[in-house]
Amino acid sequence: MTAATTSTLALPDTGRTFLAGRWSRDHREVVEVRAPAGDVLLATVPRQGPVEVDAAVHAALASRDAWAATDPGARAAALDTLADALAGEVDDLAALISADVGTPAKVARAVQVELPITVLRTTAARLRTMTFTERRGPSEVTHAGVGVVGAITPWNYPLHQSVAKIAGAWAAGCPVVHKPSELAPLAVLRLGELIAEVVVDLELPAGVYSQLSGVGHEVGALLAGHPDLDHLSFTGSAAVGAQVAAAAATQLTAVTLELGGKSPAVVLPGGNLEAAVRATVNSCLLNSGQTCNALTRLLVHRSVYEEAARLAGERAASLESRLGPLISAAHRDRVNATLERALDEGARLVVGGPDAPTDRGAGFWARATVLTDLAPDAGIVRDEVFGPVLCVQAYDDEEEALRLASAAPYGLAAAIWARDGDEAVRFARRLRVGQVSVNGAPFDPEAPFGGFGASGFGRELGEAGIRNFLTTTSVQLPSTA
Ligand code: NAD
Repeated sequence: MTAATTSTLALPDTGRTFLAGRWSRDHREVVEVRAPAGDVLLATVPRQGPVEVDAAVHAALASRDAWAATDPGARAAALDTLADALAGEVDDLAALISADVGTPAKVARAVQVELPITVLRTTAARLRTMTFTERRGPSEVTHAGVGVVGAITPWNYPLHQSVAKIAGAWAAGCPVVHKPSELAPLAVLRLGELIAEVVVDLELPAGVYSQLSGVGHEVGALLAGHPDLDHLSFTGSAAVGAQVAAAAATQLTAVTLELGGKSPAVVLPGGNLEAAVRATVNSCLLNSGQTCNALTRLLVHRSVYEEAARLAGERAASLESRLGPLISAAHRDRVNATLERALDEGARLVVGGPDAPTDRGAGFWARATVLTDLAPDAGIVRDEVFGPVLCVQAYDDEEEALRLASAAPYGLAAAIWARDGDEAVRFARRLRVGQVSVNGAPFDPEAPFGGFGASGFGRELGEAGIRNFLTTTSVQLPSTA
């Protein structure tokens, strides 16, 4: 992958954000956005503060009742219009994400851009089938939008994580104040421009979407603790998730947390080992390991442990030259320090390691790494690395496989490989995780997405992602009604 240059990019106007129904340019400071491949300056974006946060939330509040009162069909039409707009510039959006996240262009197109378009369309379609009022005995029960939603999103899938929140909230009739990550804001700024067109063209209430730009612990923290939010939906690390949840709690704001993971792939005896290893390594290395639901632990029966480690090492080594860089120098250093600690504690390196790959030039490159000989309570087995690192572990029987699979504090995703689907499903039902793939089943963009434990709470995508932003009123009717 060559170093990104601004000359080849169709950049959005990076000096403004769409906020409270107009373009905000009044910031005095900026934040630099660097390309992780090549480590070059791509752009600067506004460093906003309390004035912008207040303006955005107040505009959302002012539009809350009008937006909630719109016909669901009109909100579905708005989502479809936005999907059409994104679909009209898939390559440009993929190029922006390739530049600021570092995702190779082909993967950026398929996963980073096509997926959010699918999410918008499937959410719109689901919304058209939903009813929001029902009769329950003597009561009329109404499910309505919870109100103003604050959305804080990460850099690793910047468009998808943004759309996952905006689609669900808009479908529920909630205005959104959005704070994307300052590390990879380019495609989200373009998303803001496209949303602005939808708001103007469809004459939506002015405050139905505002975008904030700036530093997480500044503008993000102000949003998280804002007294006029009705719901805060956060996607990011567990550490920051705990901070924003605490800030929201002081205002009694409801919270959704989509946090990290340490997801296991379990190959039960009789499961297709080669297919399982291939799929697990592919998942682990997707986006250079910077994927929340990446399968980062491979659990196999002891009788095939060495073979699994060899196959995983071969697959990882063959993919290394196709990986993009990590997001930043600081993140690459964290990943390598975690690897060094694991090696000091006795882990065995099958391939990769904490040294820089050769021939990649400037930028934040990391090796595709496979480790074995890990204690079940080793840090690298329990903690999210968020880099291209796979841990291979051995179990002696199914109960131990379950114990090892459940040993990390997270509970976001898992994959089970077994002789047949029924056996895999039986094992899957015993796991406390949000999503399980059985025998290589692909990601379902309409299935509820979210976690247990340190992976957070609340669900996104599909109908669950809409219901996440609804709340209920029961009107108790007199017996004659
Ligand atoms: P992060 O927690 O550092 O930042 C997430 C967002 O929070 C960013 O917009 C950031 O600017 C903002 N932020 C930072 N400090 C803040 C503060 N004090 N107050 C308010 N906002 C603040 O996470 P990241 O590095 O951007 O993303 C990587 C993490 O996100 C990984 O742990 C990954 O597993 C997780 N993630 C989870 C999901 C999911 O759906 N479960 C999806 C993608 C990523």
